Order: sequence, then C-alpha cells, then structure tokens
Amino acid sequence: MLKGKTALITGSTSGIGLGIAKALAQQGANVVLNGFGDADAPQAEVLAAGAGIGVQVAYHGADMSRAQEIEDMMAFAAARFGRVDILVNNAGIQHVAPVEEFPPERWDAIIAINLSSAFHTTRLALPAMRAANWGRIINLASVHGLVASAQKSAYVAAKHGILGLTKTVALETATTGVTCNAICPGWVLTPLVQKQVDAKAAQHGLSNADATRLLLGEKEPSLQFTTPEELGALAVFFCSAAAANVRGATWNMDGGWAAQ
Ligand code: NAD
Repeated sequence: MLKGKTALITGSTSGIGLGIAKALAQQGANVVLNGFGDADAPQAEVLAAGAGIGVQVAYHGADMSRAQEIEDMMAFAAARFGRVDILVNNAGIQHVAPVEEFPPERWDAIIAINLSSAFHTTRLALPAMRAANWGRIINLASVHGLVASAQKSAYVAAKHGILGLTKTVALETATTGVTCNAICPGWVLTPLVQKQVDAKAAQHGLSNADATRLLLGEKEPSLQFTTPEELGALAVFFCSAAAANVRGATWNMDGGWAAQ
C-alpha cells in the first residue's frame, strides 16, 4: 500500500516509534529512523519487516531538542529518498515531579522534544508534501493531551500543545492531499513506562507484577496495555486512502482512560 513512499519517524529506536516504523515498512514504505542508543538492531528489525518488498532503511541521530539537528535530519531524508511523505512525530520523554519541584531544565527539555520538535519537522516537511499533493503527518500525543495527571506538568502541557498543533496544521492543509492527525495512547509498556513501574515498585515495596497492576488500575479501565503493534496498525490506517478525509482527529487508544 505504501510502496514508493518514505516515512520518517522521530524517536524510533525503541518502543512505539519502532513499532510504527515496522508497521509502515510492512506496507512497503522506506523508513528513516531516528533516536538515541543502538541504531543497528532497530534498523535490522525494520528491514526484516519490509523484507521481500524492497524496503530501504536509513538512520539519522538528530537530537530532537536541537532545531539545527532537526534541519540536518530533514535535509538528509530529502537527499536520500527525495522527500518525506509520512512524518510521524513520536520522540518523547517524561519527568515526574510536583510543579514547584519540577527542574526548569527538565521542563525545557520536555517542551522541546515532545512539542517544539514536531513544529520544526512539520514546517520542514510540508512544502514537499504540498508540492506532491500527498502527505501524512501523525503526531504521537497521549491521553495526557486530553486529560491531566498530577506530577506531569511539562508532559501534559506538551501533549495538550501538540493536539493544538495537530488541529492547526489540519486546518491549514484541509483542501490538500496532506492530512494531520494525532494518536492518544494510554499506557504502552515501553522503556518510558517501565521507569514509572519501577518507581512505583520502589515507592511501595512491590514486585514488578504488582506495581504494573497498580499502575494500570489507577487509570486504565481495560487493565491492559496498548501495544506498539496496535498503534502501528492505526498509523497505517491514517496513511490509507480510506483516511483521506480524516483531518485533525485526536484518536484515543487508551483502554477507556479518557472516557471516565
Ligand atoms: P521510549 O522511551 O520507548 O522511546 C522514546 C524514543 O525517543 C527513543 O527512540 C529515544 O531514543 C527517543 N528520544 C528520546 N529523546 C530524544 C531526543 N532528544 N532526540 C531524539 N530522540 C529522542 O518511549 P515510548 O513510550 O515509545 O514513547 C514514544 C511516544 O509515545 C512519546 O511521545 C510518548 O510521550 C508517547 N506516549 C507513550 C505512552 C506510553 O505509555 N509508553 C503513552 C502515551 C504516549
């Protein structure tokens, strides 16, 4: 379905971003990966997902908190594949603390990585998408774009912000073949969430399994994690012809979290 298209997914060396990269590769899209840590194993996983259908994979290690590095990454993707057709703004970090104890440098980093990076990638990707009259921008927000949780001021502010950016870009592209939508997951068991499970286990003296049950039980009525594979399937839907007029949507995959 996506043969000949190129997808760039920020923060795709692990977790949700890697799951979405594999789902898009399974549909034939070439993939530009980004993120920290080992890049070889994720590249091999995405190549394997697209095996037999000629998928090519590249990697750029831009730090999403630095506008100049984001510009380098977008130029790299355009030089390698012609243009970015599918942009998935996924890179994100978390920090948990009451607002009066929240370290200002953590606030700045979360706003830069979880929100401003999507502004930079979007402004740089849009001209070529408009010229081709086809593009898909998918922003990994969170249920925390819709509702808050205590001790997550920067994350909640950034995620509410990215839903605003999603709707604005959707309006600015509404008469074109470019769409912009957001996905709002609840809990997904990735390194970002495992750290929060570990913190609960340490705080209450619990096993990993009991801390996981506590974490889910506090917020997610289904008591089940959403998986990167499920999120990948939703991203594929947003890229499909059936989703051509889905614009500015904020789509929960949250086990009922925001329905409460
Ligand atoms: P993760 O920690 O598994 O992956 C984050 C990715 O971002 C990694 O590839 C990491 O290297 C990369 N990254 C971090 N800082 C970066 C930087 N400065 N520059 C470039 N890359 C950077 O996290 P995840 O859970 O897969 O989260 C992915 C997205 O999904 C985030 O935006 C997160 O807020 C969102 N989300 C996650 C959950 C969840 O429960 N895990 C729920 C809702 C939303």
